[in-house]
Amino acid sequence: ETAIERDVVVVGAGPAGLMAARALVAAGRTVAVLEARDRVGGRTWSQTVEGAFLELGGQWISPDQTELLALVDELGLGTYQRYREGESVYLAPDGARHTYTGSMFPAGESTIAEMERLVGILDGLVEQIGVAQPWAHPLARELDTISFSSWLRQQSSDEAACDNIGIFVAGGMLTKPAHAFSALQAVLMAASAGSFSNLVDEDFILDRRVVGGMQSVSEAMAAELGEDVVFLNTPVRTIRWAGEGQTYAEHVPGTPVTVWSDRLTVVARDVVVAVPPNLYSRISFEPPLPRLQHQMHQHQSLGLVIKVHAVYETPFWRAEGLSGTGFGAHELCQEVYDNTNHEDPRGTLVGFVSDEKADAVFALPAEERRRLILESLARYLGEEALAPVVYYESDFGSEEWTRGAYAASYDLGGLHRYGAHQATPVGPIRWACSDLAAEGYQHVDGALRQGRAAADGILRAGS
Ligand code: FAD
Repeated sequence: ETAIERDVVVVGAGPAGLMAARALVAAGRTVAVLEARDRVGGRTWSQTVEGAFLELGGQWISPDQTELLALVDELGLGTYQRYREGESVYLAPDGARHTYTGSMFPAGESTIAEMERLVGILDGLVEQIGVAQPWAHPLARELDTISFSSWLRQQSSDEAACDNIGIFVAGGMLTKPAHAFSALQAVLMAASAGSFSNLVDEDFILDRRVVGGMQSVSEAMAAELGEDVVFLNTPVRTIRWAGEGQTYAEHVPGTPVTVWSDRLTVVARDVVVAVPPNLYSRISFEPPLPRLQHQMHQHQSLGLVIKVHAVYETPFWRAEGLSGTGFGAHELCQEVYDNTNHEDPRGTLVGFVSDEKADAVFALPAEERRRLILESLARYLGEEALAPVVYYESDFGSEEWTRGAYAASYDLGGLHRYGAHQATPVGPIRWACSDLAAEGYQHVDGALRQGRAAADGILRAGS
């Protein structure tokens, strides 16, 4: 086992960790990034599967995600727009199939009016509460102690409207049932995209993709940092951040930190833990973290979603005037989109199966699960969807170094109780990941903002 010295150790080579390292190296600091996996990029992962190029993890960029857009530019990468010509499909609660254009589902007239009213209320709350410190607003406790599902039903007696608005945040973003997180958490999700209206507008939220895949953003950052900085296959097991035998209260600022991983020991002045909060407890902290962090970290958990990829010889839906976009709150795949690659003659569909629906199909044999999912795609886009040439399910829930998708959120009441403390450093340890972001919360953009903030914090503190 080798020991090295650096100014800063970064745990995790996802977008957050790599951005922290990039900013620190640019400021003249020496850095080691220790990554558990045999690749960089974390929850972004672009792979060729059976000859098809697939975005297994994060991929879309919205126009407000300026940190990511600027980085893509700086790295010399290109972007392209998601295909969006033609009509979208809405599968109503009774199973009826409707085609439509624009961003509002063709539900009944009164349901549409209710949905518009709910969007208006949520836009108002977002404006009032903001993105930076939702926990500090006078309404925080009230909104954080009621589930989003119950809150919606307090506002409206139209079940279809509540379901339709609910899935934009529940299945669509936090990938937890709407009864499992608070209305305040839903407001934060919307605020992180600028407004609730932005969040429900797929042309905004799913605007662009990176040519060559989103993982190439992390790969390009890692290549610039070099092999002396980024170490793969190096899971961090222990961080000793105070003198031997000292409690956290006895910690003396400036004490060197020692980080042990499976192949490397690093001694440094500062640490950036750039992994999602559900994995903090995989690391042994010596001394143990304070009570507040121990408690807080048990209230942050990842959602669960299956990202389904189906590749066809042609994007057959386009010939029928369909965009490939489909929604159905009661469908197995609650959302489907055209995910065809840049300049690819083949057509790719991506569908999402979220939370309790994912549990149900994961309990089935793989063949059965595939059949049910493809039947769901076919209800949106026709029989041809039943026979893809390549079929693949992204399953980050099974990945040891992630354990869910897309990101972490608090359980009921957690956000107002702990949010103010989530980014507070503990001694020389800072926290950075998309799960703690304001703008770009749960997204690559938010991860980059967090990485930059951690680096800025270290540089400001002058170490
Ligand atoms: P991560 O990407 O999770 O990186 C953390 C890294 O730390 C990982 O590489 C992990 O292996 C490593 N690690 C963990 N524990 C240790 C340890 N003990 N020692 C060393 N290393 C460790 N975002 C978007 O912007 N647009 C999208 O379209 C989108 N879609 C998504 C679809 C899916 C299926 C998923 C899973 C995510 C999606 N996201 C999307 C979210 C986005 O990918 C994440 O928010 C982002 O990757 C988070 O970056 P991060 O650096 O904070 O964490």
